[in-house]
Amino acid sequence: MSDAADVRKALASWVGYLGEIGVRELDLRERSPFEPSPRDPGALLAALRDEIGDCQRCKLCQERTNIVFGVGDPRAKLMFVGEGPGADEDAHGEPFVGRAGQKLNEMIRAIGLERKDVYIANVVKCRPPGNRDPEPDEVATCSPFLFRQIEAIQPKVVVALGSPASKTLLDTKVGITTLRGRWGLFRGVPVMPTFHPAYLLRKYTAENRLAVFNDLKAARARMDEAS
Ligand code: URA
Repeated sequence: MSDAADVRKALASWVGYLGEIGVRELDLRERSPFEPSPRDPGALLAALRDEIGDCQRCKLCQERTNIVFGVGDPRAKLMFVGEGPGADEDAHGEPFVGRAGQKLNEMIRAIGLERKDVYIANVVKCRPPGNRDPEPDEVATCSPFLFRQIEAIQPKVVVALGSPASKTLLDTKVGITTLRGRWGLFRGVPVMPTFHPAYLLRKYTAENRLAVFNDLKAARARMDEAS
């Protein structure tokens, strides 16, 4: 038998075997060097975290314990963005693990999701001393990393928690009371600004709770529509 006949026979036996074990389709195309590889948001986030390294790009590095990069599902359809880590987050290296975090978890559950289903990040990755708002130079230095997290994850909807997150994502000076409950856009991704859970804890009125619940319901509905 010729070599070609041998190869044909071996191939026929291999394909027969694949059929027996239930394989019905084979994709034998070679990937062209010009074809983009499949998106891997987890790998993109890991590369971004590596790039941040032991960041010294702004003065927030002086008092931080941990860089708080972000947590959750890299393929999340819904993403939450806060302003910056507090004391608990600085100690643990994870966003929203303190009292505001417990409230955020409740808010997430109220719309039928779990913390593990979403992605949570902040505008700045290091704790502003005394939990002050991040300053403009700190936001300018750190927010490009948040923007790249959003681009890596490509969520269907972002919920901006409080004023610094809403202003940063929507590139506006308008206050949260005006922005809250109104859809905005960040690079094509719908953004729902709402009150920060820490504000909600401070001003725990029926009106504020209902406002936040309505914002989150709208975010969930838009996420479902887009999925
Ligand atoms: N507040 C924030 O904005 N982010 C956190 O991670 C915790 C509290």
